[in-house]
Amino acid sequence: MITTPAFAGQRFAVLGLARSGMSAVNSLLAGGATVTAWDSREEPRRAIGNRCELADPVGIDLTGYAGVVVSPGVPLNQHPIAGHAASFGVPVIGDIELFAQARPNLPAHRVVGITGTNGKSTTTALLHHIVQSAALPTRMGGNIGLPVLGQNPLDAGGVYILELSSYQLDLTHTLQCDVAALLNITPDHLDRYDGFTGYAASKARLFAMQRADQFAVFGTSDAMTQGIAARESQLRDPAKVRIVGGHDLAELQADWPSLQGPHNLQNAAVAVAIAEALGLTAGQWRPALASFRGLPHRMERVADVNGVMFINDSKATNPASAAPALAAFPPNPRRRIHWIVGGLPKGDTLGECMPFVRNVASAYTIGEAGPLFADLLEDQVPVVRSEMMCEAIRQAMEVAVPGDVVLLSPACASFDQFRDYEARGDAFRQIVEALTTPEPALGAKH
Ligand code: ADP
Repeated sequence: MITTPAFAGQRFAVLGLARSGMSAVNSLLAGGATVTAWDSREEPRRAIGNRCELADPVGIDLTGYAGVVVSPGVPLNQHPIAGHAASFGVPVIGDIELFAQARPNLPAHRVVGITGTNGKSTTTALLHHIVQSAALPTRMGGNIGLPVLGQNPLDAGGVYILELSSYQLDLTHTLQCDVAALLNITPDHLDRYDGFTGYAASKARLFAMQRADQFAVFGTSDAMTQGIAARESQLRDPAKVRIVGGHDLAELQADWPSLQGPHNLQNAAVAVAIAEALGLTAGQWRPALASFRGLPHRMERVADVNGVMFINDSKATNPASAAPALAAFPPNPRRRIHWIVGGLPKGDTLGECMPFVRNVASAYTIGEAGPLFADLLEDQVPVVRSEMMCEAIRQAMEVAVPGDVVLLSPACASFDQFRDYEARGDAFRQIVEALTTPEPALGAKH
């Protein structure tokens, strides 16, 4: 566990006792803090036992508290805790801020922070793989994998690689990343922000927290990111700023089986620029790009049956993240795309996907967005109004021929029909397996 004696004698409240909240409680208690903890569910409250006082911080006197730790899932723009804590002058923070406060007591180390609308997990996991392949001690945390506070501290010389969502950045005030990276910014999560500029400002804070002598890396795919990059370039030593699109790496991309598509060229370029900022050489990052295995639910090949490839891209929860999946398959008469799309829509258009719809042989619309997407697509491609994913897969399989791709890249959130994008991707895999595994012949002996 990561903790610090700096917590000793301080009083914190922790609101939300899921994984990161629990890790915060444990770290604070181990550091000697007094903790008031709360979750609306009884089960995690019971798990806390008598180690903490149990009370909802929204209803208590917060005088003297050093901070209220909230889970990134709490919508700060609506939840009363923000105003309540502010009325006592108490900062609202997250587990990443506690990590930042624990850093002075950790063995000498460096921290990389990676944010962006899309590609964070891929880039974080890729960089982790590169750094690990270079035999440096490293841990990956934040919005990916295990909460960082729950992990064992690294020995001297280690690199912590943090995936940071905008919600986590909103709860972080003093994290000075040795290397900070912004992949891209496209409209998303606008229910939590004061418009697109509010969302972008949240991402830009990653750089505002840094010192001028620390590294900043930017992607080039959108104007908002370019604007932040231009501003940061004026504020620090030009040698510390890298703005990378990946064109110089394009020739190598054929050797990276799990990093196909233009979006992954961008992700790889950012990971390479970070690796170089950390002092790694081409001899170190180059083989790691080829050996990277990818992450589940992101352009994941789940089956190849009779020449038909089934790809699970359930993590594409908005049009900007589904577009690269469509772009990864340029028109080819021998490889037609059967696109399963829909879920809980993020807006009333298919935005960035539309220019690539010509790559699609037919679309199978599902979920709440189904009727809307079918109307939007019908002029351009044959549409099957499947409604349910199992229907969509079955219908696509009926017409798919060797060489074709059945692609789940929903461009939507999953919550209308699934617990989360992972459950949606798992369902896709299970249905594909069930439909493509031949039934045992009647009377077959076991
Ligand atoms: P995040 O962690 O930011 O949600 P992931 O790496 O999990 O990002 O990828 C999420 C989705 O976004 C996947 O469907 C993937 O195909 C798509 N994607 C990945 N990288 C990019 C990028 N650089 N630009 C646009 N879309 C991307």
